[in-house]
Amino acid sequence: MSHLSATSVAARLGGHLVLDGVDLQVVPGRVTALVGPNGSGKTTLLRTCYRALPAAAGVVEVDDADIRRLRRRTLARTVGVSTQEPVTLGGITVRESVRLGRIVQRGLFESFGADDVDVVDTVLSQVGLADLADRDVLTLSGGQRQRVSIARALAQEPRILMLDEPTNHLDLHQQLSVLDLLRTLAQDGLAVLLTVHDLRLAVEYCDAMAVLSEGRLVAAGAPEEILDADLLRSVFRVRGEVTARDDGTRTLEIRGIARD
Ligand code: ADP
Repeated sequence: MSHLSATSVAARLGGHLVLDGVDLQVVPGRVTALVGPNGSGKTTLLRTCYRALPAAAGVVEVDDADIRRLRRRTLARTVGVSTQEPVTLGGITVRESVRLGRIVQRGLFESFGADDVDVVDTVLSQVGLADLADRDVLTLSGGQRQRVSIARALAQEPRILMLDEPTNHLDLHQQLSVLDLLRTLAQDGLAVLLTVHDLRLAVEYCDAMAVLSEGRLVAAGAPEEILDADLLRSVFRVRGEVTARDDGTRTLEIRGIARD
């Protein structure tokens, strides 16, 4: 089990400070969503957390170790990442594509062994792709390709999984099924962090959320505790309400745009 913690993180893009003073906790067993309007810094924060972008200030730690000091391979074995890059490489099967995730355990020039085959098989069934293992990835639907990307990250056997907009471009059924999968993975002990712009989906599926606005963290915690009418109006510019039920489910009802 691993946890990630970001403290007072700032990030610069093209000379502009696009994140400032952001704190974030990502813990095992939970799906944590980064939410906020377009341009609020969700993707930038995620990239800072997996070291694709160096923090301009502050620190990101995995299990209390500064990620700047971790060896590349150590980081890759702890943090698996599924980005928005589409799976476009043709002539490669689902199984081969997922096996690429094993390189971080093996190194580029070591051959794959029986345990790699086992991990890939396990991961393929975990994400529901076992029956499609020998298909060319280019013949898959958007939702299935998203699962390939998640499976490849899982093949690294990470303890923290980060995903940039994993539900983008998917139909509703596929969105829900990817989020269901993430929830199951978290229940098995993974720490999951994702960016998501659909606030209603985030409220329904995520245990915790961090709300960004103009590069700053404005709230963090359980959706029903932080998303009150004021925050919905001031950050998301909508009128709405979160309802949490006794069975643990919650929904966000949006009543319209906020006019100020
Ligand atoms: P989100 O994921 O919430 O939509 P981003 O993290 O992509 O937001 O972007 C945060 C801010 O950084 C936005 O205001 C965006 O315009 C700005 N930004 C993104 N990329 C660059 C860049 N290469 N140069 C300058 N500003 C950028």
